[in-house]
Amino acid sequence: MVASRAARERKAAAQAGELARVRIEVGPQDQFVYKITCVECTGKGDRPWSVYRPGEDNGFMAGMDRWIFHLREKHPTSDAPCLEFLPAAEQRLHERRRQQAGGTGHADD
Ligand SMILES: [Zn+2]
Repeated sequence: MVASRAARERKAAAQAGELARVRIEVGPQDQFVYKITCVECTGKGDRPWSVYRPGEDNGFMAGMDRWIFHLREKHPTSDAPCLEFLPAAEQRLHERRRQQAGGTGHADD
């Protein structure tokens, strides 16, 4: 588990690029908690901008999606490897919004 967490952390950090600090912690229910912090931006209360998502691969995807949108919005010149997943991240965002708007999420399929 520890080796796998470290390996995931390295992989996530490589994808997130040089502006990100990626940490994977183990939460109270033994689940991974993904934390991505921006080295340049501050969020609320002068703390670094960060994303915090618990979960296994879905937590990783949700955290990385938010990071991708942050990069696109605040650091448009970044060439972080994760930007390759921008179209997929936008698609997932679109689907989440549609599910929230449509109730069941399958209404217009
Ligand atoms: Zn930033």
